[in-house]
Amino acid sequence: MERVYNFSAGPSMLPEEVLKKAAIEMSNYEGCGMSVMEMSHRSAVYEKIINDAEKLLREVMSIPDNYKVLFLQGGASTQFAAVPLNLLSERGKADYILSGQFSSKAYQEAQKYGDVAVAANTTDINFSAVPSEDNLTFREGIDYVHMCFNNTIYGTKFPYIPKTSAPIVADMSSCILSEPIDVSKFGVIYAGAQKNMSAAGLTVVIIREDLLGKARACTPTMLNYKVMADNGSMYNTPPTYCIYIAKLVYEWILSLGGLQKMQERNARKAALLYDYLDGQNYYIAPVEKSSRSMMNVTFLTGNPDLDKQFVAQATGRGLVNLKGHRSVGGMRASIYNAMPYEGVEKLVAFMKEFAAKNPK
Ligand SMILES: *Cc1c(COP(=O)(O)O)cnc(C)c1O
Repeated sequence: MERVYNFSAGPSMLPEEVLKKAAIEMSNYEGCGMSVMEMSHRSAVYEKIINDAEKLLREVMSIPDNYKVLFLQGGASTQFAAVPLNLLSERGKADYILSGQFSSKAYQEAQKYGDVAVAANTTDINFSAVPSEDNLTFREGIDYVHMCFNNTIYGTKFPYIPKTSAPIVADMSSCILSEPIDVSKFGVIYAGAQKNMSAAGLTVVIIREDLLGKARACTPTMLNYKVMADNGSMYNTPPTYCIYIAKLVYEWILSLGGLQKMQERNARKAALLYDYLDGQNYYIAPVEKSSRSMMNVTFLTGNPDLDKQFVAQATGRGLVNLKGHRSVGGMRASIYNAMPYEGVEKLVAFMKEFAAKNPK
């Protein structure tokens, strides 16, 4: 079978160049006689890999010197607990912006650890838009604000960074590396790597140094950002192979011209799909225009049976994993960095054909 266009929300497509390079290096990395998977994380060869990975990520994202980069495990979901344990003081407060399922889960988890409140939420419109900036209400004296920058399930994204003097903690699992972002506007950025960066098993945390060292005494050692920072993400065995793949992805991004170029490529792909959706009336695009995600594009026919047929027939054409999340239904095309323009062209061509053959 040929490689397909994989629209999965995550784990998702990786650049073919990266997979090919990894394949070449799979069993004997740079002549050292073993695979990256087999080597000690304390070996000189591996140390160069993780150090290069950090250096490259710093370069790609222009991460300021007063931020630490941590390569962790446990997925973005583990950060839902790690964030309050590290940043919410015993009598402290934090405000959460609820813009979808993941931010709601983060909020629920944080409730175990202290006084957390909702700064705004869009549950009433089934998260089809993110809260607008003038609807946000932050309390005085909060330790941080939590938000999910791109809402993978609904296909929404914040078109703004909230204005607050509190540190902003942002879940960027599904938009990291898709466009330039000003890291200095955030206290903590975290992301599961399996959407736009690597294989599942790696979670990247970027944290401003002054936020380290505030963890509660009860914080599990493995969740303590300072312990991880002080040990260069090597308190225990890090997800060695995932970090190696991430390094290849960072190299790939730089070889194409960095995040500015990624943004141009991604905007062009997203425009192809959204322009088509806006110019027809067969499919419904449920997301409010100002909240549209460049990474996850949701649409539906309005008829669950037709949606099902759409997904099945698309699969037959090598356009796979287009089924929407079970809480939303319909279709979702995740078009991360690794999705080529031709994949989106093929999808739009198929959408036109399907609409013509299946009148409602
Ligand atoms: C996928 C995803 C998560 C969950 O990530 P895990 O690594 O599976 O824990 C959390 N937040 C966002 C925005 C996601 O896209």
